[in-house]
Amino acid sequence: MPLLVLGGCNKQPEPAAVAPAEAPVESFADVTTQRIIDTGASEEWLTYGGSYDEQRHSSLTHINRDSVAELGVAWTYELKTNRGVEATPIVVDGVMYVTSAWSLVYALDAQTGEELWAYDPEVDKAVGVNACCDVVNRGVAVYEGQVFVGVIDGRLEALDAKTGARNWSVVTVDQSKPYTITGAPRAVDGKVLIGNGGAELGVRGYLTAYDANSGDKIWRFYTVPNPNKKPDNEISDEVFSRLANDSWGDEGHWVTDGGGGTVWDSIVYDDVNEQIIFGVGNGSPWNRDFRDPSGGDNLFLSSIVAVDAETGRYRWHFQTTPGDNWDYTATQSIILADLPLGDSGTPLRVAMQAPKNGFFYVVNAETGQFISGSAFGPVSWATGLDEAGRPIEAEGARYGENPVWLLPGPLGAHNWHPMAFNPSEGLAYIPAQEVPQAYGADARYANNSAGWNTGADFAALIPATVRSSDLKAARATLKGRLIAWDPKTQQPRWTVEHPNAWNGGVLSTAGGLVFQGRLDGQFFAYDAATGEPLWSYNLQSGANAGPGTYSIDGTQYLTISTGWGSVFGVAAGYAFDETVPSTLGKVVTFKLGGTGEITKPDFPLIDRTTTAEAFGDEEMINKGLVHYARNCYVCHGAFAISSGVLPDLRWSPITTNAEAWKSVVHDGVLAEKGMVSFADHLSEEDIEAIRAYVVLQARNDMAERALASSGEQ
Ligand code: CA
Repeated sequence: MPLLVLGGCNKQPEPAAVAPAEAPVESFADVTTQRIIDTGASEEWLTYGGSYDEQRHSSLTHINRDSVAELGVAWTYELKTNRGVEATPIVVDGVMYVTSAWSLVYALDAQTGEELWAYDPEVDKAVGVNACCDVVNRGVAVYEGQVFVGVIDGRLEALDAKTGARNWSVVTVDQSKPYTITGAPRAVDGKVLIGNGGAELGVRGYLTAYDANSGDKIWRFYTVPNPNKKPDNEISDEVFSRLANDSWGDEGHWVTDGGGGTVWDSIVYDDVNEQIIFGVGNGSPWNRDFRDPSGGDNLFLSSIVAVDAETGRYRWHFQTTPGDNWDYTATQSIILADLPLGDSGTPLRVAMQAPKNGFFYVVNAETGQFISGSAFGPVSWATGLDEAGRPIEAEGARYGENPVWLLPGPLGAHNWHPMAFNPSEGLAYIPAQEVPQAYGADARYANNSAGWNTGADFAALIPATVRSSDLKAARATLKGRLIAWDPKTQQPRWTVEHPNAWNGGVLSTAGGLVFQGRLDGQFFAYDAATGEPLWSYNLQSGANAGPGTYSIDGTQYLTISTGWGSVFGVAAGYAFDETVPSTLGKVVTFKLGGTGEITKPDFPLIDRTTTAEAFGDEEMINKGLVHYARNCYVCHGAFAISSGVLPDLRWSPITTNAEAWKSVVHDGVLAEKGMVSFADHLSEEDIEAIRAYVVLQARNDMAERALASSGEQ
């Protein structure tokens, strides 16, 4: 792939010295690998997971079990988008660097929230259709005076940390394919590491290291084979020819659809073993029968992989879900720690992960050897792990055309929400959930250049007549919890049950606290040893992101970015409040004795009526449902019930008029807003069938509410 360098390296030559030689040279955001190692997570928060080990455990103790009740708002900063917010802020030299949706970057005074600069990569909103899980971004890396951001359209960019001016920009993907970047880059020894996403739509995954100064590519490690099993002339060639190619057949949709295996979140630097350990995502398509009918393990899908940090050369891998069939990514938080597992309790350096598949794994960080694993919640797809850590699959879990309900579903027993680890308690804190899914083979499967290509049928168990009350009943069966998990015994020490499934990232502190936000906007502090809730605050918006903490001039701050959206918020028809549009995201920062406030958003209510009359026969409605489920649901919501992040099609005036509807869905008149034309994938007849389905959903909802209110009188 050609390397596109925009603007080149803008570093100006040093001007002739005008100050006395002994005057200190002021360096801005001068973060080095050694500084990240030395600082850990303490006064500053220098890298995505707090420290290179990504434990998200701060040594700060000013906010502690005794003082936490005095926490109040220090400042808030309004992000300029209502889409999902997942970013962990980086704090360096008193400056906070944080991102929001559409890969916007902000530099704020970390004491006051004052904006120092904002950067907009000016993304073409049409790329939003490639985002499986909203146009989110999980944060930046800061290194030697530069801020690095992965842009949703596949760019990696370097900004001047002081001014926000762009130093360089490289396109890291083939932009003709549905790649996205949502993850935070990591910076190590002059290199910036970035992966990508897109395995729901059909791409081939990899991790790349770029030169932090120039943006030049240094190495690339592919996670699935070249479509012809030929060399890529990359560092991964050796292990594919020796080992990984043989775990794939020669035919199947992987050859044309990319195979998946995207590295979309977890990338960890192990400074002890001088290696990069990263998590690899699901197969593309999900359904192995379509992806690779030969039935192989399909390395390195759903694996934890370690490569040499300098060269990218393969070291080891541990595959959590061989032959992935269920979207069981192993991209979730990887945490490095020394656990007393050796003879007579000597510390052993391990990597820990709670991936989507529902098992908690402990592997030797040096060798990748499986040490232990156990289910951290109910799983029905496997009955356990064998001695090598390989799952023992349950009968029927590899679904056919007859759908089967399985736990976990594709949202996972744990998703991207960062896990934390407290080394003195010896506990990992997992944002866990129970969200089952009916999986069925999609008999209509064919590669589609827009929309999802999983080979699994989302419409399998959803009758067209389903009503919003059915969705609410289905939601009530979903569960979410914070689990304090002991990786030595592979048992929970305590568990907090949440009112909803999807729950936020976690921060652990030496003050004996665990912080976590929730779907409903409540931000909690729990006792790290017992799980007792010690404090909570209503953030007035969804709280998904990993919180952070830092200290300036002796004051400890606690910070979290808020905002509704992300995959669950957008797709699950789960509104923060179904009657109002979603709110703009915010950075909310607390300190002891803070007296600020978060104002309750004051939005007009959504007018939940339509003038359209229901139309179409049963065949048309069912066709509309199938096409809605395949093309519309992941953005506009299950059962056509929107979260409020993207328009609720039921109440859109466009839905009342066949011509207006066609101009949007077929002709793409709203492409600039991200609603691209679906003319390549849907006939005009299909498009009108979707409208019939949406109007029926609107009418059913209005009838249901009318019935409920007449019953109340
Ligand atoms: Ca996935």
